[in-house]
Amino acid sequence: MRWPGAALALLLMGLAGCSTAAPAAQSPAAEPTTTSAATAPATEAPPPTQPAPAPSTPAVPAPVVVLDPGHNGGNAAHPEVVTAPVPDGAGGTKPCNTTGTATDAGFAEHAFNWDVALRVRDRLTAAGVAVVLTRQDDSGVGPCVDARGRLAGEVGASAFVGIHGDGAGAGGRGFHVITSSLDPAGAGVAAGSDALALSIRDAMTAVVPPGDYVGRNGLDSRPDLAGLNINAVPAVYVECGNMRNATDAALMSDPAGRAAVADRLATGVLAYLGR
Ligand code: ZN
Repeated sequence: MRWPGAALALLLMGLAGCSTAAPAAQSPAAEPTTTSAATAPATEAPPPTQPAPAPSTPAVPAPVVVLDPGHNGGNAAHPEVVTAPVPDGAGGTKPCNTTGTATDAGFAEHAFNWDVALRVRDRLTAAGVAVVLTRQDDSGVGPCVDARGRLAGEVGASAFVGIHGDGAGAGGRGFHVITSSLDPAGAGVAAGSDALALSIRDAMTAVVPPGDYVGRNGLDSRPDLAGLNINAVPAVYVECGNMRNATDAALMSDPAGRAAVADRLATGVLAYLGR
């Protein structure tokens, strides 16, 4: 940290025209008086504190899970952001994000996703799991689906769980868990995604029936979801129910219903982690 002081000293010398000779090496003791203001102490300031080196490995690392509450509360007001194309993990592009669906009564999916994600976070944290959220509130814009999909790999997570509510026809009800059908991260990660999906499926059936309008036995596989295609770790999206179905909407709009859904989601994740 001596260069700024030395550089300023040389600059001051140049401004004063005090020397045209090659600058001699400045004595360290001269720097404080040359560069300090009148308030500087008479004695030389201690050197900047160096941060302690981080331990190379934690003693017992907690497993990390990324929770991805789908969409965001500010998306609808910023189409210029959410419609921008981003990589879809399948060689093409898709919009950065979407606004999500809502119940017929107007309860927004982004709010459902956010509330459930916080409840799942609390359960997992209490069980000793470190949780990273892809967004920090329910009033922002984005992040884009590709950034959400990259996050789990970036933070060394063991699993990625996207939380959504579906917006299908009113006659269909139930939840389903989606994996990528492309397996872009290899067979090992794909097997992990399948195992994660099964754990969550088995837990979720206690509060919501498997979807009767999509997939099979509460499971589905798709090639078009960037957040799954781009993921480097076992990853699923959970469509916790159909917000356009009256029965599912009643459950999802009720805080007690969301607590029950979150409890089952957390149970499924913990079972996958073996905790
Ligand atoms: Zn959604």
